[in-house]
Amino acid sequence: MRPLVLLVEDETGIAELLALNLRHEGFDVRHAATAEEAAAAVDQVLPALVLLDWMLPGASGVDLLRRWRAQARTRDLPIIMLTARVEESDRVQGLDLGADDYVAKPFSTRELMARVRSVLRRRAPDQAPQPLQVGGLRLHPASREARVSGALLKLGPTEFRLLQVLMAQPERVFTRSQLIDRVWGDHVAVEDRTVDAQVKRLRDALETGGAQGCVQTVRGVGYRFDTAAAQQLVAAAMAGNAAGDVGGTS
Ligand code: CA
Repeated sequence: MRPLVLLVEDETGIAELLALNLRHEGFDVRHAATAEEAAAAVDQVLPALVLLDWMLPGASGVDLLRRWRAQARTRDLPIIMLTARVEESDRVQGLDLGADDYVAKPFSTRELMARVRSVLRRRAPDQAPQPLQVGGLRLHPASREARVSGALLKLGPTEFRLLQVLMAQPERVFTRSQLIDRVWGDHVAVEDRTVDAQVKRLRDALETGGAQGCVQTVRGVGYRFDTAAAQQLVAAAMAGNAAGDVGGTS
């Protein structure tokens, strides 16, 4: 389950270069050469981010941007516009229409990858490839490992993804339906009690690893990641070291 980037670009050479770099950065890549192909791809699966070329055969990237921003499902889709146009008025138009960033061709792929990471950190932190750390809990998206004070947690893929979503925005309360969209995907039929069952499995795994209390129930709303509980792990580890034993706090 690597985060998906939809690459909308009609020039094959640029598309291949970008796809190579994005895969190297830890993303899955889907390529569309026209606005119509891109719209169909997004109807099927909502990507983590879209790299959208301005000039396309048929409908333009700007047409597509406008259409996506007008629909509830795609309103918050992180989008970076790519374009050979360099005039400032064009750049302003792209940003006014709701692009999250704008990169003029020719661009450096290193800079573009940095912008992809930056837009994801800002707009979809649970899809960003960087490790997440809250208190004594650390999660590595690339290796799909989560550790409590260095010790590996035993997590299935869904539990891992659930922890990633919660940890990426600590203290934020997620409803069950928001968790379903982010963990299972927005086109998948999942029942609320499946979410509850998965949260229980995640809690069991955290507790086994010594990290109880990190996933809190918010009655009548949903779930949140508790920063204080994760910070407690660091304090407990330090107290344990100082006392020369393991655990020790209650
Ligand atoms: Ca083009």
